[in-house]
Amino acid sequence: MNILVSGAGIAGLSTALDLGVRGHQVTVVERAEHLRVNGSPIDVRGDAIGVTAEMGLLDGIRAKRVDMSERTRFVDRDGTVIARVPNEEANDSADDIELPREDLTNILAAALPPNATIRFRESIDALTEDGDGVDVRFTSGGSARFDLVVGADGLHSRVRKLVFGPESDYLRHLGLYVGLTELPAEDFRADDIGKMYNYPGHMAGITGYHDKALGILLFRSEFLDYDYHDLDVQKRIVTDAFAGHDEWEIPRLLTAADADPEFYFDSVSQIHMPTWHRGRVVLVGDAGHCAALLSGRGTSLALTGGLFLAEELERAGGDHTVAFDHYEKRQRPYVEFAQSTVDDGGNLLVPATEEEITARNTRLVSRPGKNAAGQGVSWSR
Ligand SMILES: Cc1cc2nc3c(=O)[nH]c(=O)nc-3n(C[C@H](O)[C@H](O)[C@H](O)COP(=O)(O)OP(=O)(O)OC[C@H]3O[C@@H](n4cnc5c(N)ncnc54)[C@H](O)[C@@H]3O)c2cc1C
Repeated sequence: MNILVSGAGIAGLSTALDLGVRGHQVTVVERAEHLRVNGSPIDVRGDAIGVTAEMGLLDGIRAKRVDMSERTRFVDRDGTVIARVPNEEANDSADDIELPREDLTNILAAALPPNATIRFRESIDALTEDGDGVDVRFTSGGSARFDLVVGADGLHSRVRKLVFGPESDYLRHLGLYVGLTELPAEDFRADDIGKMYNYPGHMAGITGYHDKALGILLFRSEFLDYDYHDLDVQKRIVTDAFAGHDEWEIPRLLTAADADPEFYFDSVSQIHMPTWHRGRVVLVGDAGHCAALLSGRGTSLALTGGLFLAEELERAGGDHTVAFDHYEKRQRPYVEFAQSTVDDGGNLLVPATEEEITARNTRLVSRPGKNAAGQGVSWSR
């Protein structure tokens, strides 16, 4: 079949790979001008580990393993460590594979067969379906017809908006926003990695891997209405959110964010939809069921979804109606579990009040025998 995938994130790339190796002609359109490889390390967990084995990628993924979660600790305004988190709050099991988002993205892209290609700086402008196919007009001006369209274009999916309606019908804001920036290489200090500082409703942290340091700026906020494509607006929102605070490394993180052309900013939100397919269009990954970074499972869901979709299409002999139904039945239990796990993460990482920060630290410090190991929690995956 001739299949269009919108978005070259983990969901789009894994779907393109799983479809491509089964002989489909796959075109991936990605709005950015290159693969978006920034982001903190992510986790491959549970059945997603088996999925990467089926894709032939498990050894390559294991080779890129990092242990950032296990080095994370909370500090006070002077940078003194005041609490560490036991490992069981960081990982589901010892089998979890934590690796840089950049490595997983590159591994998937490198594994694409020749019949799966990526077109950068391209996006779907409009699509019209008839019984036999989908006519797509691209923002670059061209158009083409496809048998199926897969929306893998993330939390603010264009495909979802075009086919299923406005984002507001499906988005559940969890009350947090996150900014992420790469710190300048000349500033790198290994000892910074894994430190998190809180004041009420805010968390500033430094994570990283190898010789790369990433600044994290998390804060509590009501839902904000802003232009997702306007980077300057996003930087201003973060600067305003941390205004008046120059303790710990906050000024350094804000300066780095301001100078970063790849600055990542988004709401911590979930997408809840009664169905992920309509006619010849189907959603995979965050586009259909974002679980929010606090779940630690968005990447695993993207991996299972891509494989289930491709397998079901093969099993149904190309009957997309049957395949989409089966894909959804297999994927939904994973999504429901992931989406149900988020509550505690927000309270752990961004306590709302001074009392809650103190209570969190006391709880962590008083867990006998656990905090001494120097283990920590991953702020996101
Ligand atoms: C730059 C970046 C950094 C991230 N960092 C983290 C992190 O540190 N921690 C964490 O937990 N999660 C992070 N995430 C989210 C995480 O990658 C996802 O939750 C998970 O991997 C599922 O991925 P996805 O492919 O469904 O969505 P996404 O990772 O959001 O990928 C969607 C892709 O679609 C592209 N796209 C969007 N709109 C269009 C359009 N109209 N046309 C074409 N392409 C489009 C985007 O540029 C992106 O490449 C990040 C996402 C991005 C894009």
